[in-house]
Amino acid sequence: MTNRKLDALFAERVLGDPKPDWQCKHNLERSSPGRAWVCVSDPNECEHDWRPAKFTTSLDAAWAGVEKFNDPRMGVTTLSIEHTSTGKWRAYVSDSVARESTPALALVKACLLAVGVTQEEIDAAIDSSI
Ligand SMILES: [Zn+2]
Repeated sequence: MTNRKLDALFAERVLGDPKPDWQCKHNLERSSPGRAWVCVSDPNECEHDWRPAKFTTSLDAAWAGVEKFNDPRMGVTTLSIEHTSTGKWRAYVSDSVARESTPALALVKACLLAVGVTQEEIDAAIDSSI
């Protein structure tokens, strides 16, 4: 299951790396400054199709959120991910908590809530997912 809208929200709001509005120089620099976006267009195409990293399906990728919150400039932050007895993964980030079927999704949602994204915005991103 891909959740590109939620991946994009995570890139923009948690990592502070918005979708590029410029054209990459194909073959040279295909990533956004924060590395959250990659241009996936064929080098021969004029269109630049920026895709967010798969934060919601890769714990490796979602870990960028943990690194963001571990930045001393963010202040003291509580972080944990645990597998609960109900079979769900529970992620705590600061005062926010999310329970999901995978650790990556739980971490992404907890990070989004922790930076002030509302549950409604998260639900909207999931509903309109492709
Ligand atoms: Zn491009």
